[in-house]
Amino acid sequence: MKILDEKEIKTLKALLTERSKKYGRKKLRAAIYARKSAEDIRDTSLPMQIANCRDLIERYDFLEEYKVFQEDGVSGMFTDIRPQYLEMMELAEKREIDVIVVMKLDRLSRDVADASTAIKLISAYRCHLIAGDDVAETNTPSGEFMRNILLAQNQYYSRRVASDVIDAECKNARKGLTAGGIPPYGLKIIDKHFELNEKEAPAIKIMFERCAKGCSYKEIIDELDSLGFHTRAGNRFSYSSLNALLRNDKYYGTFVYNRIGGKKKKHRVLNEFFDEVRNECAIPPIITKKLFDKVQAKLDSRKGICRPRQNTSNFVLTGLLFCKDCGSPMSGATNTGGRNKEKYRRYICPKHIGRNGATCKTKPIRADYLENAVKSILTESINAYLTSADSTALFEGLEKSVQQKIGILSRRISDLENQINSFLDKAANTSSSKLAERYEKQTEEYICSQEQKKADIAQLKSELQQIQNLKNDFRSHNRALTENEIFTSKEVTRELFHIFIRRIEIDDQNDDISVFFND
Ligand SMILES: [Zn+2]
Repeated sequence: MKILDEKEIKTLKALLTERSKKYGRKKLRAAIYARKSAEDIRDTSLPMQIANCRDLIERYDFLEEYKVFQEDGVSGMFTDIRPQYLEMMELAEKREIDVIVVMKLDRLSRDVADASTAIKLISAYRCHLIAGDDVAETNTPSGEFMRNILLAQNQYYSRRVASDVIDAECKNARKGLTAGGIPPYGLKIIDKHFELNEKEAPAIKIMFERCAKGCSYKEIIDELDSLGFHTRAGNRFSYSSLNALLRNDKYYGTFVYNRIGGKKKKHRVLNEFFDEVRNECAIPPIITKKLFDKVQAKLDSRKGICRPRQNTSNFVLTGLLFCKDCGSPMSGATNTGGRNKEKYRRYICPKHIGRNGATCKTKPIRADYLENAVKSILTESINAYLTSADSTALFEGLEKSVQQKIGILSRRISDLENQINSFLDKAANTSSSKLAERYEKQTEEYICSQEQKKADIAQLKSELQQIQNLKNDFRSHNRALTENEIFTSKEVTRELFHIFIRRIEIDDQNDDISVFFND
């Protein structure tokens, strides 16, 4: 934990004066907030976090411990499902607590937007936040900047941990292993593998063949009924169940995990960052791919064109962009057009003329043009900040946090090493061949995970080198950073946009782009 500097002590003493006038306080009431996340077993334990915070409180005679709030095994990604956190914020709002102490800023939340909201609320309640890892003062622009950078990195790290989980599932998908659940009609699951259900599979074949020939749903269902094929509950197939079966690509033997545009909501933050995994030979096929495609074309033609869901994650400005004329949030759309039938992306006002009789005059704006304009505006203000403030502290903060990440990964690698050894021992000592096989599979997964972490460390080390180069460059030439150095990927771009920008407004002729920064 840090030691409070003079400035923060002064702020706290002023707060005590205020609170003692209003509420007769002799000391500031400090709440301790500790959280251990479900995803990351390496988080500092709750007692440890609490002890650290307690140490800090006991060092200052103007602070007293008032209440401890702790949350165990709750994800740090979303604040809205943490009851203790909510209770604490309520007390802060009622001015029943004066100070909140956390061991690290990421205990509040690993999600930048959420944590920013939390920090804003805490300060709106005139409550003071003490974070043990806070490297800069909180009320200066540089403190705010550092805080944003730290939070962005915590968020990235949290995603990494959850990404390990997805990664393991993706690996299973590649091997054709299913996590379980109810197999679709026509298939069964044995030992995590899909196999044919001999009783049901012929019905699937009939459905596809009849549909390809142009039979109606009713004709197909009647035929199945007369042949004695029914749903697992023993009922006649319904129109919708038949439709779902005819759309299921498992029947030609393909297993898809993390389907793009799919319904899986479990890792809602993460899905967009991961590619879908397709394993084309994981399942014994009931029909051919050719027949499947033919049926899809038939179904599509019946329903009109079934457009694939647009991948909005390409539109990094979504949520920030508004029409100046009518105030509507503008959304992204991809069109094909022009002489070469090229795809181009645009942001569109939903009330633009012609769309369902709407009348807003704001023209659609080319996404590339707009995003580049915003990047260059942001680059300018980041550079202005760096030249005016203490950029060394910024770079050192960045270096430190990358080094911490490397430390965490190294420790996980050695933990995995221990687990691998123990599983190999167990595999060698069991008399059950099935159990041995399972241990070996587990070992294989751990080894994969280890390899990935080693690759991550290499990546982080090169990031560190980059930061150090930038720092030296900046120091010796006072050189401005280029756009490419700041916006290194789509994810980073989106994150930086959302950290620094509150709102962007576009006028009807697309001439005027107003960018409003977060304060
Ligand atoms: Zn509009």
